[in-house]
Amino acid sequence: MSRPQIVWLRRDLRLADQPAFQAAGSAGPVIPVYVLDDERPGSRQMGGASRWWLHRSLAAMDAELRRHDARLILRKGDVVDQLVRLMDETGAACVHAVRHYEPWWIKAEADLAKRVSLRLYDGNYLVPPGRLKTGGGTAFKIFTPFYKALLNDGGPRSPVAEGNLAFADAWPESDWLDDWKLLPSSPDWAGGLRQAWQCGEAAAQAQLADFHDRAKDYEEARNLPSVEGSSRLSPHLHFGEISPAQAWHALEGMRGEGIESFRRELVWRDYAQNLVWQRPDYPERPYRPEFEGFPWRDPKGDDRAAADLLAWKAGQTGYPIVDAGMRQLWQTGWMHNRVRMIAASFLIKHLLIDWREGERWFWDTLVDADYGNNGANWQWVAGSGADANMFVRIMAPLSQSSKFEAADYIRRWVPELASLGDAVIHDPESRPSGYPPRLIGHREARERALAAWQVVKSS
Ligand SMILES: Cc1cc2nc3c(=O)[nH]c(=O)nc-3n(C[C@H](O)[C@H](O)[C@H](O)COP(=O)(O)OP(=O)(O)OC[C@H]3O[C@@H](n4cnc5c(N)ncnc54)[C@H](O)[C@@H]3O)c2cc1C
Repeated sequence: MSRPQIVWLRRDLRLADQPAFQAAGSAGPVIPVYVLDDERPGSRQMGGASRWWLHRSLAAMDAELRRHDARLILRKGDVVDQLVRLMDETGAACVHAVRHYEPWWIKAEADLAKRVSLRLYDGNYLVPPGRLKTGGGTAFKIFTPFYKALLNDGGPRSPVAEGNLAFADAWPESDWLDDWKLLPSSPDWAGGLRQAWQCGEAAAQAQLADFHDRAKDYEEARNLPSVEGSSRLSPHLHFGEISPAQAWHALEGMRGEGIESFRRELVWRDYAQNLVWQRPDYPERPYRPEFEGFPWRDPKGDDRAAADLLAWKAGQTGYPIVDAGMRQLWQTGWMHNRVRMIAASFLIKHLLIDWREGERWFWDTLVDADYGNNGANWQWVAGSGADANMFVRIMAPLSQSSKFEAADYIRRWVPELASLGDAVIHDPESRPSGYPPRLIGHREARERALAAWQVVKSS
C-alpha cells in the first residue's frame, strides 16, 4: 500500500489541469490541504475582498472533493510548521504543490524543502516565469518581445484533464472554515459581491463557456464599460480555479482579432509575473529610480491630499467615469479594465498621489487583487514601470468617458446622474443634488502634474 501524498493548495484551487494533484495521485492516496498563514505575507496579507473570495472558493473545493468521497483539510498558522505536522500525523511521503512566485511563497517553499520531501510543478502561468529569454540570454523587460517569444515558443502546453484521483481513506483533523472568519460580519459589506460572483472551479468553467460565445467580439467590446465585453475570469485565474492554459486552449480553432487579443491579455498576466520573478519587490517601489524623488502630495502630511484620497476611494471626485469605477469596485470587488486605467491615472496625475496608495486600495478591495498584475499595472499607468505609459501622457477622463461610450455604465453606478442624457452625463455642467463638484479642473491638474514632472526631470 503506497503512503499518502499531501497536495498543498494555494492559488491553484482546481482539480483539472492541476499538476500537483496529477503527480500526487499517481504516487499514492491524496490528502488536499489549505493552510491559512497570515504571518508570512507580512504587509501583503490578503485584503478583505480576497478573503471573501477565498472562503467561497475553499467551500466550493471541499464540496467538489466530497463528491469524490474526499475532503479539504484546513489548518491555520505557519504554513511550514503546519505541513510538517500533517506529514507526521498522516505518515505522508511527500508534499506536492504548484510553484508560486510571490516572495513570501518562494521563501516558504525553500523553508519547507529543508524539512520534508517537496515536489514543485509549474501550472499557474502559460509559461513558467524566467523560462523565456531574450537573444542575449536575459529575462524580458518589455512586453511585446516577451509576447512574441511566447508565441514563437509554441504557446502554452495543452491542459490536462482531471483524471482518476485516489484519495486517502483516513483523514486528519481539519479546522472549520467558518471559524476562520474570512467573511465580513459587522458590517456585512459583501452583498454586492454575492450578487456579482459565483466562486469555485465549476463557476470558472461556466464563466469561460459564457465568454466563449462572446470572444469573437472581444477586441472592440473589451474597451466599452457599458457592455459585458471581457471574460471576467480574473478572480478565477487569480485563485487558480481555472488555469490560463485552459482559458487559452478553450478558444482553439477560433480565429479573428478577438481571439488573438484575448490571448494577448493572458500573456500580460504572465508578463507581470515575469517582472515580479526578476524583481520580487516590483509592486513596492518604482522600477525607474527617477520616480523615487517624485514630489507626490502626501496624504499623511497634507489634509487636502488626505481628503482627495478619501474622495477617490469613495467615488466622490466629481468626475462621473472615475466615480462610477470606484463605486463598481467597492460594490462588486471588480472594475472594468479601461476604467481601472482612468481611475488610476486620475489618482496619480490629477490628484498627484503616489501610485502605491492606489495599489494598496485595490489590494484590499479587488476580488482579483494580484501581487504581479496589480503592481505591474499601477506602475504602467504611473510611467514608473519597466514597460510603461509615459508620465506626461495624461488621460483626460471626460473625453475617455465619451469616447468609450460609458453613459450607461455611469447611470448604473452613479444613480445621482441617472436622469442625464448621453450628451451631458460625462461632464454635467450643473450638478444634480448630491453629486459633488470636481476636486480639481482637468487643465489645472494637467499643469500641476507636468510641473511636478519637471522637478523629477531636472533633478
Ligand atoms: C491600475 C490597474 C490595476 C490592476 N490590478 C489587477 C489585479 O490586481 N489583478 C488582475 O488580475 N488584473 C489587474 N489589472 C488588469 C485588468 O484590469 C484585469 O485583469 C481585467 O480587468 C480583468 O477582467 P477580465 O477578466 O474580464 O479581463 P479580460 O479582458 O477578459 O482578460 C483575460 C485575463 O487576462 C488577464 N489580463 C487582462 N488584462 C491584463 C493586464 N492589463 N495585466 C495583466 N493581466 C491582464 C487577466 O487575468 C484577465 O482575467 C489591473 C489593471 C489596472 C489598470
